[in-house]
Amino acid sequence: MPDVFADLVGQDEAVATLRHAAAAAAAVLRAAHPVAVGSGQAEVEGEPGVDPGAGMTHAWIFTGPPGSGRSVAARAFAAALQCAYGTGCGECPGCHTTMTGTHADVRLVVPEGLSIGVGEMRALVLRAASTPSGGRWQIVIIEDADRLTEAAGNALLKAIEEPPPRTVFLLCAPSTHPDDVSVTIRSRCRVVPLRQPSAAAVAEVLVRRDGIAPDVAQWAAAAAQGHVGRARRLARDPEARQRRDAVLAVPRRLTGVGAALDAASALIEAAEAEAEASVAEADAAERAALQTALGAGGTGRGAAGAMRGAAGQLKDLEKRQKSRATRAQRDALDRALVDLAGFYRDALTMALRAPVAPVHTDTAAMAEAGAQKWDAEGALRRLEAVLECRAAIEANVKPRIAVEAMMLTLWKG
Ligand SMILES: [Zn+2]
Repeated sequence: MPDVFADLVGQDEAVATLRHAAAAAAAVLRAAHPVAVGSGQAEVEGEPGVDPGAGMTHAWIFTGPPGSGRSVAARAFAAALQCAYGTGCGECPGCHTTMTGTHADVRLVVPEGLSIGVGEMRALVLRAASTPSGGRWQIVIIEDADRLTEAAGNALLKAIEEPPPRTVFLLCAPSTHPDDVSVTIRSRCRVVPLRQPSAAAVAEVLVRRDGIAPDVAQWAAAAAQGHVGRARRLARDPEARQRRDAVLAVPRRLTGVGAALDAASALIEAAEAEAEASVAEADAAERAALQTALGAGGTGRGAAGAMRGAAGQLKDLEKRQKSRATRAQRDALDRALVDLAGFYRDALTMALRAPVAPVHTDTAAMAEAGAQKWDAEGALRRLEAVLECRAAIEANVKPRIAVEAMMLTLWKG
């Protein structure tokens, strides 16, 4: 049975750090309860040869590019902290419940919308201060900590500055750049940098864990550019493959201004459709659950007040759902842009005769034709246009405007 760190692809250094910290954390617990029947006092006596505090701290940030496994690392570390053996054995109840998301002392925050608000953060910090029911650690994992609002960040900072003795915060963010994580939060956290795993490492895990055929795994790992989840989806989901095919057909279709604008529309609409499909089910389920909770109407005293409250709750839900839909749309569009960037990167490396494997083996011939037509300079300008489009959308430029500008550059060069 592989331990909890087995799915962290190509991250040996980070895994070594986390194993060491988990062992140190276990030593802290042992020191607090020297014998099975402890006095209940948290005396940190320590054992000979083990410094209970070394290597362990209350706040961590996992950084790395999307798909490098930030949340996988955070969850595996949480499991190792809750592990009965302090190692992340993968078999004990502490490991098992943490990995399946049912451990009572591990809370996972996954922002569905564009930001994590202060209300959510305050409630979380409050609960994180309670004594761990399992006797080990109270853990909060915050995915996409770069989406904390400023107020939410301040609420979190207060908890990190004076952490309750058994509380651990695990934050995930693309980087420690001040745009992602405030400098003050950063200064209180230990950073675990994750790197973009190699295509070979991603392919290996797809074969070993997901039972995907080696040739499919290799193709998908290269096409996904080091993004493990994306590689798995490409290998398994025919619709994901179709969407990718449509995106990679774009360069061929750019024959004039009209065609470029059409391509922009098609890309935006495909992202919208993909996003809508991805949230439709959750939206409907949430609406149904709320309607059930509110009851179907009612008469008599209090009914009017209840109706007003219900309208407010429905409005809140709609707001949350709209924010989630916007996020899903941006994510879908970004995936398409990453695919497209891979194509122009291939054209660039071919124009330069660089000895690197193409990202998209199935469009390599088309990239080679582009390389001959545009030269390195033209390929680079096109690659930059895609990257600028991503940056513009991240900076809240209207997606259609950014994508149209990009398509015109991709056509003209
Ligand atoms: Zn375990």
